[in-house]
Amino acid sequence: IRKSYHGFHPAPWYLCCRSLSGAGTLRWKDYDRPKEFNFASDVLDYWTQMEQEGKRGPNPALWWVNNQGDEVKWSFREMTDLSRRAANVFTQTCGLQQGDRLALILPRVPEWWLVVIGCIRAGIIFMPGTTQMKAKDILYRLQVSKAQGIMTTDTLAPEVDSLVSECPALKTKLLVSDHSRHGWLDFRSLIKSASPDHTCIKSKTLDPMAIFFTSGTTGLPKMTKHSHGLALRSSLPSCRKFLQLKTSDVLWCISDPGWILAVLGCLFEPWTSGSTLFIHHLPQFDPKVIQQTLFKYPITLCLAVPAVYRMILQQISTSLRFPALEHCITGGEALPPEEQEEWRRRTGVLLSEIYGQSETGISCGTLRGMKIKPGSMGTSIPPFDIQIIDEKGNILPLNTEGNIGIRIKPTKPMGLFMCYEDNPVKTAEVECGDFYNTGDRATMDEEGYIWFLGRNDDIISSSGYRIGPTEVENALAEHPAVAESAVVGSPDPIRKEVVKAFIVLTPEFLSHDQDQLTQELQQHVKSVTAPYKYPRKVEFVSELPKTITGKIKRSELRKKEFGQM
Ligand code: ATP
Ligand code: MG
Repeated sequence: IRKSYHGFHPAPWYLCCRSLSGAGTLRWKDYDRPKEFNFASDVLDYWTQMEQEGKRGPNPALWWVNNQGDEVKWSFREMTDLSRRAANVFTQTCGLQQGDRLALILPRVPEWWLVVIGCIRAGIIFMPGTTQMKAKDILYRLQVSKAQGIMTTDTLAPEVDSLVSECPALKTKLLVSDHSRHGWLDFRSLIKSASPDHTCIKSKTLDPMAIFFTSGTTGLPKMTKHSHGLALRSSLPSCRKFLQLKTSDVLWCISDPGWILAVLGCLFEPWTSGSTLFIHHLPQFDPKVIQQTLFKYPITLCLAVPAVYRMILQQISTSLRFPALEHCITGGEALPPEEQEEWRRRTGVLLSEIYGQSETGISCGTLRGMKIKPGSMGTSIPPFDIQIIDEKGNILPLNTEGNIGIRIKPTKPMGLFMCYEDNPVKTAEVECGDFYNTGDRATMDEEGYIWFLGRNDDIISSSGYRIGPTEVENALAEHPAVAESAVVGSPDPIRKEVVKAFIVLTPEFLSHDQDQLTQELQQHVKSVTAPYKYPRKVEFVSELPKTITGKIKRSELRKKEFGQM
């Protein structure tokens, strides 16, 4: 079965490269290191000018919709105007200064984009966070970051008020709401009255721009600090080849606004190319709404975590033909080849995989038009140079398991994080010879394609074999009984560890005999991958433990297993 996935071979990217738009934002080369860069003045305002000169079509820059039929369409001109107002609100009304930090905990409301660009104009370091956070998550983030400001909505404002006394650095609370709240500044009315005249700071490319908290899959979230270079990276030729966006494209990135992928996929990527950014408010994750949205609007590209595509496929059994959709991208978690192939079969649209971290942004991927090798995360995207390395930073031979390393010496590439804020020990720990060690395990093949095996801590060591959970999970995903699975090591007196699979069953298999199903699944894994990888233990569960960004917490399952010893 596995072989047949390799059945489709689109031409390599250089044969089907489309003419890319945005000469003005294409003035940098892959390894350029301009001293100054600011996304607002160098990119956004460039497109505003193009719009004014009639050199960009009539499509909006931002197109926002919700389930109630509301719609917001802003041109680049309006984005420039409104984000300048936002910058003035921050510096004049709130008294925030260049280098101050603003925690940004908003759902997908249009204001999110004004705030991010407003912060970039004023040099305020923005720190996105998901609205799924609870009071203790917010408290942790405000305390470790010593944020001077916070912006959120009615839903979380009471939570913030309950913990504000424990955050001495916090001096400004901004509310995005149609109502006012005591002790909070009303952002919507402030924007209306603020001046649209603002002079953008002249930021150095390597000045800090944003702090992203990691997902906390393996412990407390870490603060990864990024410079303006992260935004510049989207303008570099190799990165432009990744999505090959034109001004007529409409990109929908369904990432939570609290994650680095949102800042890239919902902002830097589309606007660098002068494309339209599409947003659905999507307060709850609903595959039906996502599917209807792809039908209703002329969305040409869609970017989302694998779970989004998986849920659409599971909920809708018919074939899916979306009128405008040309290409889909996924990342953040491993994408089982089975799902990748099923998406292509049912929609006629290719689904390509990217890999990245809060520390790195998008590090590798299958560029648009490049041959897709199902199960692989594609090749490194310059200026990143990815190599598979050992614990000392030596480059390993091809097809050998090791750590995914990104070269940082002699020069750190544009777009890689500056450091873990306030944590020089952790920052030094991830430096490994000439490389930054991602802590993820993979192999690289002859064509430079990278094959993910698992996080370092998730690799299972059984009777001398090293087994990556992803390979086993991918094999399980091929079986119709498996909706989702997580594979971890479980203690064993003889083998030290054995492979254990936690499996969520698809509805049709819930009533099946579980012992028989266990045997069937074990047999299935043995038949599609090296037999030593098969799960000797299987447990059926109703759900898997996940982080607030929806990633499987294998470490929690592993702890449970070892706690039982
Ligand atoms: P923490 O560092 O706090 O434990 P985290 O690593 O999950 O959390 P993120 O920076 O949000 O936080 O996630 C990056 C990680 O996500 C990568 O290191 C990798 O393990 C995983 N990941 C990203 N893309 C892919 C992919 N395409 N396939 C498999 N795993 C991926
Ligand atoms: Mg991490």
